[in-house]
Amino acid sequence: MQLNDLPRMTPPRLKALRDSGVDGIGDLLYLFPRRYIDRSTVLPIREISSGQTVTVIGRILQAEEAGFGRNKRLHVTIFDGTGRLEGVWFKGLKFFKKRFKPGKVVSFYGTVKQFGTSLSMSHPDVEDIEDGDTAGRGLVPVYPSTNFFKTTYISSLTIQRWIAQILQRQRFEEYLPDYMLRDYRLPQRRDALTSIHIPEHIGQPAAGLRRFKFEELLLFQLSMQQLRQTRIEQNPGAMLESGDLTRDFVTRVLPFKLTEGQLRAVHDIVQDISSGKQMNRLIQGDVGSGKTVVAVLALLMALDSGYQGAMMAPTEILAEQHYHTLTEYLTPLNIRVRLLTGNQNTALRRDVLTDIEGGKAQIVVGTHALIQDKVRFHRLGMVVIDEQHRFGVMQRSNLLSKGTHPHVLVMSATPIPRSLAMTLYSDLDVTLIKGLPAGRKPISTVVRFDKNRPDIYRFVHGEITKGGQVYVVFPLVEESESLDLKDATMGFEQLRDLFPDFQVGLIHGRMKSTEKDLVMQAFASGSLHILVSTTVIEVGVNVPNASVMIIEHAERFGLSQLHQLRGRIGRGSRKSYCILMTDVKRSKEARFRLETMSKTQDGFEIAEADLKLRGPGDFLGTKQSGLPSFRFADIIEDQPIVEETRDLARKILREDPGLEHPEHQGLSHVFRRYFDSKSHYFGMG
Ligand code: ADP
Ligand code: MG
Repeated sequence: MQLNDLPRMTPPRLKALRDSGVDGIGDLLYLFPRRYIDRSTVLPIREISSGQTVTVIGRILQAEEAGFGRNKRLHVTIFDGTGRLEGVWFKGLKFFKKRFKPGKVVSFYGTVKQFGTSLSMSHPDVEDIEDGDTAGRGLVPVYPSTNFFKTTYISSLTIQRWIAQILQRQRFEEYLPDYMLRDYRLPQRRDALTSIHIPEHIGQPAAGLRRFKFEELLLFQLSMQQLRQTRIEQNPGAMLESGDLTRDFVTRVLPFKLTEGQLRAVHDIVQDISSGKQMNRLIQGDVGSGKTVVAVLALLMALDSGYQGAMMAPTEILAEQHYHTLTEYLTPLNIRVRLLTGNQNTALRRDVLTDIEGGKAQIVVGTHALIQDKVRFHRLGMVVIDEQHRFGVMQRSNLLSKGTHPHVLVMSATPIPRSLAMTLYSDLDVTLIKGLPAGRKPISTVVRFDKNRPDIYRFVHGEITKGGQVYVVFPLVEESESLDLKDATMGFEQLRDLFPDFQVGLIHGRMKSTEKDLVMQAFASGSLHILVSTTVIEVGVNVPNASVMIIEHAERFGLSQLHQLRGRIGRGSRKSYCILMTDVKRSKEARFRLETMSKTQDGFEIAEADLKLRGPGDFLGTKQSGLPSFRFADIIEDQPIVEETRDLARKILREDPGLEHPEHQGLSHVFRRYFDSKSHYFGMG
């Protein structure tokens, strides 16, 4: 069956469908209504009042244009037996005029306004409610058609009728096994589609939809689990164990005792690397929990067993910092650490590459540059990926395929809510580092305004005099680096004038990496008192002596970003202060973000709040996150299904790794298609 076989299909309609991505009847079946109009609960016009957002249904009495030129508008009056309501259009008059024939029954959905005694809605969402042979009687589905089909109007009823035809005439194979439908109470595919497109009552679509969410998440989980499985099987993983270097580091170099959380993480790592299987572990710990030392220990275990180690960071500043930390830690043990970034000159780069390939470089710290083809390791045994949320799932697997199948340790500071973690990292084992090193004092966080500046600067002066250091952070303005620079540069100049006795530095993304490194080193060593910066210091930077952070235009930052930034202070024994500078006028949402920041320092709490505000895609920055886009499932709301399908996927692959049982034949078929389409799910037609 094809789109052309559908009744009253015309070339313009066909084109409108194609333009909106509906190329075949399969696509049409998976074009789900965005809402439903429940005729039994629609309000009589007499009962609605100004300010309400409602659906009403009525017959069109008249459709008339009024006004001239720019003021031209279209007034459409409907009547439902109890009262009249006017819909007003200012745009697309021609297109809408054609649609509104007197006598037709339509629904208006929108916010009611009252002018004198008359009620109106401007640009309401309109649906035809009756047109001869309606497919369903109870709920009227509203398809995304009015948004999609801009030039050619296709009513939701028409789409519903087409789908009803397909559901009647098409053969539907069920590919989910019987036991699954039974155990998880999922409707058959055709029944599910029917309940979504032609529901009798309001509870039905949800049951149908649940099946497709389940199916989508199951396929995703199967693919993740299978990747994990193949990796485990194909990559036995070098047997590593801790030896002299690890012991010497702990006893001679490490200046503090490991926390419970750190010990537990190290313990998990030791178990993994001596298991004969390749390690794939995520260490999650809030900012400042001390993940770096854990990484160092993992790298040393590789060295102790005769392998090289690599550590990858998401920014150059962070790579440089790790490089310095590791050099400082490991030079006393005669370990050679090298740095590899994209900005090194050719000679240096060649030298580093030679050292890596020859095995002279025992530990390599770097940026993305590490995963390029040219980089060949002599004998890579352990890879640490720091601040994972910046790398996608894909990049992760890129590193893994680097020849020797090293063990992999992923470190993330983003406290990722459970549901997201289970989706993003369902191929990894997870260790949580709970708690911070002892002696940390809570950070005082306050919201302040321009008028408070004199007080703030007096405070800053006092803190520096007492030996502290200060960050002043400026936001990225609308992704425009030059503007962003202007703000930070001006701030830098002002602060220099304000504090002639102190050393003020500036760091931003446009600087050469050597310059950046110099400034960072100066700040780390304490010779700079104030560091003015853009968000380049957001991730990972560690200067424990810095105890004050002023964030300018704090309302422009997202919650997670504020938390990351604030994580740069409160890293030592000094009492720390975070000052969020903002406008008196700020949106409700901005106020909520700033309030959340002053109320809590708990990364998980902040992440949950952020997730609620922004939704999962935005939360991680869709592009960077490597988070697959789900068509039906919402990984926050559907967390129970995320868990169900993860457990089920594990069980299936344990009992039938190749999906070869007869009952899994259908599943195996769709799974292969899903897998080949690069994990994009378009509904299996
Ligand atoms: P993050 O988890 O954010 O990467 P870091 O590894 O940068 O944190 O550690 C933050 C700071 O805490 C560093 O200055 C580090 O030296 C210090 N630190 C780490 N572990 C401990 C510990 N067990 N006791 C005291 N200080 C620690
Ligand atoms: Mg870190």
